[in-house]
Amino acid sequence: MAAEIFNDLAAPVEAKDESGEWKVIYPTKSLMLPGRALTLRLREEPTVLDICEREKHGVLKASEDFGQLSLRGKQMDAEERRATEREKVRREEACQRQLEQIAKEARRIRNRLGMSWIIILETVISLLLLILLVAAVRLDGRAPQPPFEAAMAVLSIGLLGFFVGRCGTKTARSDATFGDYACCARAAFNCEGILGLAALALMTWQHGAEFWWTSLTFWPVAGCGLGWWIYNCRRGALGHLGELDHDYDRFEEEQARDHVKNRTIRFEGRVIPERGRPCVASWPGKYEGAWEALVRRTRAGEVSAAVVFLPDGTADHGCHARIPTAEGLSHDPGACWCIPLYGEPKPWGCRWWTQWLRNVEMAVESGAELEVYFFAGLAGRGKVQSFDSAAPEHLRREEIYGKLREFKESPQFKAASAQGLDGLSRERREDSSSRHSRELHRLFLAWLPKEEAEFLEASEGLGNSQKAEVAWLDRKGYQYREVDVSMWLSDADAGLEVHQPHGAADDLSTPRMPIPHEVPADIQSLDP
Ligand SMILES: [Zn+2]
Ligand SMILES: [Zn+2]
Repeated sequence: MAAEIFNDLAAPVEAKDESGEWKVIYPTKSLMLPGRALTLRLREEPTVLDICEREKHGVLKASEDFGQLSLRGKQMDAEERRATEREKVRREEACQRQLEQIAKEARRIRNRLGMSWIIILETVISLLLLILLVAAVRLDGRAPQPPFEAAMAVLSIGLLGFFVGRCGTKTARSDATFGDYACCARAAFNCEGILGLAALALMTWQHGAEFWWTSLTFWPVAGCGLGWWIYNCRRGALGHLGELDHDYDRFEEEQARDHVKNRTIRFEGRVIPERGRPCVASWPGKYEGAWEALVRRTRAGEVSAAVVFLPDGTADHGCHARIPTAEGLSHDPGACWCIPLYGEPKPWGCRWWTQWLRNVEMAVESGAELEVYFFAGLAGRGKVQSFDSAAPEHLRREEIYGKLREFKESPQFKAASAQGLDGLSRERREDSSSRHSRELHRLFLAWLPKEEAEFLEASEGLGNSQKAEVAWLDRKGYQYREVDVSMWLSDADAGLEVHQPHGAADDLSTPRMPIPHEVPADIQSLDP
C-alpha cells in the first residue's frame, strides 16, 4: 500500500521505504512512497530519524506522524525563525545606526564648511563697510572730494547689497551653506547691511545741498540691493531650491560616508599589552553581529584584539605590502603578501596583513594569550596544512567553488529546483547562512567528486584569511587558544543548534570572500 508524505515543516526532510533510497522532500511538497515502513530524517540533522508504520491511509504529515522527528523538526523551525528574526532586527538596527552616524557626520562637515564661508564673507563685507565709512566720515582727515566719495559709495554699496541680499536672507541655500550657524550669520550680515545704509545717510548729510546730486548715484544702487534682498526673502519663503544645492548635499553626504567608513568601520585592531591578557588574534568575519560586538568592545577598551579590517572605500583598502626578505619566504623580491596568503594578488590588498603582523608581535611581546575564534561548533577545524600551503589550498578552494556555475547547469541541481529547492527560506541567521544556502551547499558537495567534497568539508571552521593567520601563528610557534565563536553570538540557543556537519556553510550565492575577513554585508552596501 502506498502512502503520501507531506512536508509541512520549514526544514527540508528525506524519506525512504524499506527498499528505496533517501528522497528529499522540500517544504510544502509531498512524496508518494510504495512501501509500508516509511523512514523520515532531517536534512540538517540526519541522525534524527523516525519510522512511521501506522496503518494510516491518506497523507502523513512530517510535523505530526513521525514522533521524535516531528518534535525535533518543529523545534528546529522555531529556532531558525528566532535566529533569522534576531538577525533581521540586528541588520536593521545596524543600518539605522550607520545612517544616523552619516547624518551626524554630514552635519559636522557642513558646519565646518559653513564656518569657513562665514569667515570669508565677513572679511569681504567688513572691508566694503570700512571703505564706505572711510568715504562717509572722512576718517583719514583729507579734503572733501564728493565725486570720488560717491564713486566709492556706489561700488561698495553695490557689492554689499549683493552679498547681504544673497546671504542675509533665509533661503535653502543659506541654510545649506551655513549649517547650524545660519541664524547668527544672517543676523550679522543684515546688521552690516543696515550699517551700510546708515553710512550712506551720513554721506548724504555731509554732502549737503552743494553736492545734492551725489545722492542720485548711490541711493538707486542701494535701492537695487534692497530689491534683491526682498526678492531672495520671497524666494526663500516659497521654498525654491536650486540644482546647485542638491549637488552640495550629495557632496557632503559622500564625504560623510567616507569619514564614517574610515572612523567607525575601518578597524586596525587594538592590542592591550598586558601579560596573560587574552588577545583576539583571528576572527571569522561572517558572523557580522559578533564582529560588530567585538569592534565595539575593543574600542571601549574591554577587549584586546589584533584583528584588522580595512573596508572598501578606506585609504589603504587595495594597497599591497612587500614581503621583507628577512622572512625567508621563497618568493620573488617584488611579491606582496597576497602571494603567500592567497596565491594571487587580491583586490582588497594585503596592507591589512602587515598591520595584523604588527599587532600580533606586540601581543606576543607583551605576553598576551592569543585566541583564535572558529566557526560555531567547529573549534580547531579548517586549518591549512602549513603557511606554505595556504596559497595553493586557497587557489584550490577557489577553483572548486568556481564549479558552482557548472553545478547550476547540472541535472542534479535542476531536479532539486523542480522538487522545490526555492521553497527554502533565504533569510539569514547570525552566521550569514540561510536554509537555502545551506541546502545549496549540501547539494553542491554531493555533486562534487568525493575528494573535492572532502577537501571542502575539511576546510570548514575558519574563514579564508583566517587560515593564513592561524598558519602564520603555527609557523612562528606562537601558542594560541582555540575558541568557538558561539559564545559571542547574541542568542541563548545558538549553542544548541550549531553542530550540524554542513551547517556553517558560507552563502554560496555571494562571491567568496569579497573583503578580508568576509565582514558585514551591510558595510558593503554602504558602497555607492
Ligand atoms: Zn598584495
Ligand atoms: Zn559543509
